Amino acid sequence: MRDKRFYSFLHRQIPVMMVLSLFPGLGYIFLSWLHDIHVPALIWYSLIVVNSIWGYRIYKKFNFEEMSKQSRESWYREMSYFFYAFFLLWAIIFIIYVKHDTYNLHYIAIFTELGASVVAAALLFPDRKLFVPTIFILMVPLIVYFFNINDWYGYVLTIFASIFTWVLLYAANSSHNLLKTTSYQASHDLLTGLYNRYFFINSLQQMMNTLKESNQYSYLLLIDLDHFKIINDSLGHDVGDRILQKVSTRLRKQIPVNNMVARLGGDEFIITGSEFNNKEQCRDEAVALSNTLLNALKQTYIIDLNHLYLSSSIGVSLINPTNTNANSFIKEADIAMYEVKAKGRDGVFVFSDEMSKRVEKHLEIEQMLHFAIEKNEITLHFQPQLNKDQKIIGVEALARWNNHKLGNIPPVDFIPIAEQTGIIIELGNYILKSAFTTLVDWEKKGYALEQISINISMRQIFHYNFIHDITALCEQYLDSSLRSKIIFEITETIVAEEIGKVIGVMRDIKKLGIRFSMDDFGTGYSSLSYLKQLPIDEIKIDRSFVNKLDHDKGDQEMVNTILNMAKIFKLNIVAEGVETETQFNFLEQHNCDIFQGYYFSMPLEKDKFEAFYTQQAG
Ligand code: C2E
Ligand code: MG
Ligand code: MG
Repeated sequence: MRDKRFYSFLHRQIPVMMVLSLFPGLGYIFLSWLHDIHVPALIWYSLIVVNSIWGYRIYKKFNFEEMSKQSRESWYREMSYFFYAFFLLWAIIFIIYVKHDTYNLHYIAIFTELGASVVAAALLFPDRKLFVPTIFILMVPLIVYFFNINDWYGYVLTIFASIFTWVLLYAANSSHNLLKTTSYQASHDLLTGLYNRYFFINSLQQMMNTLKESNQYSYLLLIDLDHFKIINDSLGHDVGDRILQKVSTRLRKQIPVNNMVARLGGDEFIITGSEFNNKEQCRDEAVALSNTLLNALKQTYIIDLNHLYLSSSIGVSLINPTNTNANSFIKEADIAMYEVKAKGRDGVFVFSDEMSKRVEKHLEIEQMLHFAIEKNEITLHFQPQLNKDQKIIGVEALARWNNHKLGNIPPVDFIPIAEQTGIIIELGNYILKSAFTTLVDWEKKGYALEQISINISMRQIFHYNFIHDITALCEQYLDSSLRSKIIFEITETIVAEEIGKVIGVMRDIKKLGIRFSMDDFGTGYSSLSYLKQLPIDEIKIDRSFVNKLDHDKGDQEMVNTILNMAKIFKLNIVAEGVETETQFNFLEQHNCDIFQGYYFSMPLEKDKFEAFYTQQAG
């Protein structure tokens, strides 16, 4: 229970004790002067002053946040001696004064002693080691005094004083227990019995101070259960809670005795390591322990006849003696943990500077992306699509972002961030509008394009307003003949998640006359089953297959199979990423319809595409 509140409480009692001794002490000097016992009284009061100076120094020395565990321990010891000494002095003044019953000073002495005992019980109750001996130091001389009166009322007073001692001990003890319970509740997670976030962060700060003093290393492991939400949602929070309890038990069992484990909240747990002199050794131990934990947490959980399986993701950050902020280490472990999640979960990553740079860059992109549209930084480039006769019959619109600070950011970097943040909805609409108006413009100029392909993110498809937005844009810009030239490219990788819903949206969009193409075909899962289910009109063979056509027999077979399959399903085929003549020839001979790639042209700015088109047409 020796937490910050415990220390701070006792720390606050030091000046209280000093004031309660220095001022009443003056009254004693005055009495001693009246009754000629000033020598012992003056010696006593000087000891009170000396003790107060000592107390003041102890008081000043205290700084919970910056003290290491050892220095806190030694501060605690010194503080205890200070209190013992003070109360001992009060016992001594009692012994001196109680003898002078001729002046009736014994009344004052007795009252002082009782008062001091009450003060001890009231001030020192958080610490049993302090209040029990102190109450005895104060009350035993009083009991002995009463006993030595050797008369009936002396014995009665002896009994009363003994009962009073017991009451004081009982009262202090009750307050102590109450404090212990509230302190436990304030520092522990009630579901799992592990430490909570608040306590953990404080202790981590302490640990870092200790590491700084001893120039050592340690580590933090941040554990997050994978897909825990699914268990909560499907089996109920009760089962979820019981899993969390089982997870805590397994964690407790696996970690070395000196390591601390806490629940940060939800399904997130955090563990500190032991101390190491060597950074490499610290890292190795952290990874080894993480792997042990991954394994332990992966064992089946049996709850109400349910056999449940859970993996987890662990992020590791190494605590070094130079950095002083506890939260920054937790953040690092968090970044490493998210890296594990992003790379497919069920694993361990140690935080690195490179990771931190990536996160910073990510954040920067995210911030800038919010203003990219209004600042007109997003444009479309157009990559020509050609038929067998190498005549331009279409284009793919590809987003480009040029930021004054970050320069050109490729879509593979900003599209995923736009998807994560939801900006893709606004961005997607902006891209659609630009593509639609460009098509209208080209129609006016008399370009004979059969199609314009626009990439659509799954996040857009799932957005509640998507169909409404597309309908509005179509009504505003495109007549029905132009609508039939629009192709939306979707990627098969994400379709897996909610295929039914995707099909519904696609059917609604198709009613407007817009067609669909399956982008990056061959890189997702179970392509064949999708081909049958999804209402698509075209597939785009991924450039990773096209790339290897020159020399890889396996890829040639693969492309050939895709081409044949597409014919069976009566789908148009676009080959993307055509870079060489050999690739073009192979594809052309195997009945591919449309070709796109650097062999013909890079994606071009609007006016450059127009020049390219006019040149070819002319
Ligand atoms: P994607 O839809 O598969 O686009 C084709 C990518 O391949 C483009 O990269 C294009 O520049 C590149 N490419 C074309 N020909 C060749 C070639 O011969 N060789 C090689 N090595 N590459 C070629 P880009 O423009 O960087 O776009 C990357 C991805 O970003 C796109 O892949 C698409 O998934 C996404 N994206 C681009 N624009 C948008 C957009 O407006 N909306 C959405 N949602 N996603 C977009
Ligand atoms: Mg595409
Ligand atoms: Mg593609």
